[in-house]
Amino acid sequence: TYIVNDNCIACKYTDCVEVCPVDCFYEGENMLVIHPDECIDCGVCEPECPAEAILPDTEPEAEKWVEFNRKYSELW
Ligand code: SF4
Repeated sequence: TYIVNDNCIACKYTDCVEVCPVDCFYEGENMLVIHPDECIDCGVCEPECPAEAILPDTEPEAEKWVEFNRKYSELW
């Protein structure tokens, strides 16, 4: 799965939401998150993000965002 990190905060772009084939982006309190069970790992959102806020959860920097993305996406 892919995750969103805090580079997303206050970002006004929603290019990622538009390209996601499974609509698995959700609104957190001040940033978007990805639902880890719905993401199909296609990767098309990553290059679309102008804030470089999207990365695969296999990246070491992504680790601390995994639970955050799950928590906020499951509120919906
Ligand atoms: Fe959506 Fe694909 Fe990005 Fe997952 S990797 S959030 S399925 S666009």
